[in-house]
Amino acid sequence: MIFRNVTQSVYLVSSHPDSNVNVTAFNLPKRIVLIDCGMRLPAAVEVRKETEAFFKKKVDVVILTHFHSDHTAGLPAFSDCRIISSRFMLKNLKETGRKVPEGFMVTFPNKTFDNQLKLRYGDVQFLIKRTGGHTDGSAYVYCPDYKVVVTGDNLTINFNPWGGAKNGDPDLWIRALQEYLSLAAEFFIPGHGPVGGKDQVKELLDYIEIVRKVMMEMIVLGKTEEEIFNASRKIEYIPSRKAHPSTLKRWHKVFRARAV
Ligand SMILES: [Zn+2]
Repeated sequence: MIFRNVTQSVYLVSSHPDSNVNVTAFNLPKRIVLIDCGMRLPAAVEVRKETEAFFKKKVDVVILTHFHSDHTAGLPAFSDCRIISSRFMLKNLKETGRKVPEGFMVTFPNKTFDNQLKLRYGDVQFLIKRTGGHTDGSAYVYCPDYKVVVTGDNLTINFNPWGGAKNGDPDLWIRALQEYLSLAAEFFIPGHGPVGGKDQVKELLDYIEIVRKVMMEMIVLGKTEEEIFNASRKIEYIPSRKAHPSTLKRWHKVFRARAV
């Protein structure tokens, strides 16, 4: 197991050195709080066991940023924990009808919120806030005491954002990134990739805003979906890596519906 220290009391935990999906552990005075729980159930069982051994404390709270399986497939390893998500996220997860292997319980969040939830463990405070963007249930976790924001997939660093979800909304995504910039935080833990700062948040914000501008202008000029797709594909976020076609198609659909 690899424990990488982000800042005081905050760690990234991974069972494999090549894993790019982030599982975040907050080492609090009386407990470990995990944010997201990884893409493979056997790995999540190990993550829990070794995290509890490493910190000599129980993991008893899991907070989920969104329902996609790369962040939630490990959930049955935490069926006895308090599991927190937005209400939309729970609805999304139930709709996937995911099966679990024998010996595990089908596990869902057991504490939900509509728009935001404040938590306090000892002196450490957390704000969990739903913004939408990557999915309609997407939420971030902000810990002002440690100046940390855990973003889920509204921020990916060194990976192109994936915006193909049918309940994704690029305008809410832009708003979420603007909101991150307004927080008194230094460390942004993305859904995928290394920890960044506000510069990385700004880079992704600029990229989505440029795609929006190009698409909106072309929609108003009466350009076809194919022409818009080809033009927006040339806009780079990660140099030399092309955007996911499903992302641009979804964003184009949303923008076209909003264009006047
Ligand atoms: Zn993801």
